[in-house]
Amino acid sequence: MTPPVDASESSLLAARLSAIDEKIAVAAHAAGRSAEEITRIVVTKFHPASLVRDLYELGVRDVGENRQQELSAKQDELAALDLRWHFIGQGQTNKAAAIRRSAGVVHSVDRDRFADALHRAADGDDRLDVLVQINLTDDPGRGGAAPAQAVALAEHVLALPSLRLRGVMAVAPLDEEPASAFARLRDVADGVRAVDPSASWISAGMTGDFVEAIAAGATHLRIGSAITGPRPDRG
Ligand SMILES: *Cc1c(COP(=O)(O)O)cnc(C)c1O
Repeated sequence: MTPPVDASESSLLAARLSAIDEKIAVAAHAAGRSAEEITRIVVTKFHPASLVRDLYELGVRDVGENRQQELSAKQDELAALDLRWHFIGQGQTNKAAAIRRSAGVVHSVDRDRFADALHRAADGDDRLDVLVQINLTDDPGRGGAAPAQAVALAEHVLALPSLRLRGVMAVAPLDEEPASAFARLRDVADGVRAVDPSASWISAGMTGDFVEAIAAGATHLRIGSAITGPRPDRG
């Protein structure tokens, strides 16, 4: 059973989506870039699959999830839709096979062991797009490899034939201007691209800082609440 569509909710969603896309276009223009080279991923974590379906009707094709179980459940339910699922959360090696089954892109490869587990879960010849996640904070407990480890991790990924290295991903620290954090990410991205020129993606920018991310060269934005509205409490 499909729940009744709440017309005011879905027109609100459409309005928020087009307002964000307009801001992306303005920020790209201001940075001398084309909005066409930027992929806007809508982060749908904690929201029901029905919201992803509404987004699909509005033309969204790239969606992001940060938990394997939630990713797998929604991807199963919406398998008939032509969506690209981006896994953006902390990856556990024992969930790697499930993540690989559901996701088209994994943004959060933060250590050799997780890359190895994704590689071992390969099915046939298909290659999985991955990014190496960089920790831009001083806290080693936060997700991501230290910037100084990025090239070594990228080289490790490049040696795994079922993975296709696409670039780097990061979350800006809370206690720093996003522009300076993203400038450091860009340096890391340049180092990774020197090893593999095709690894040109920079996944950066969320609701609060996507304008700065675009100025710093982000190619993939991960925007949640500005489009979906506030996330419901997890039960
Ligand atoms: C939740 C999340 C986002 C989106 O956050 P918003 O502030 O709602 O835009 C982006 N990236 C990651 C890794 C996330 O976990």
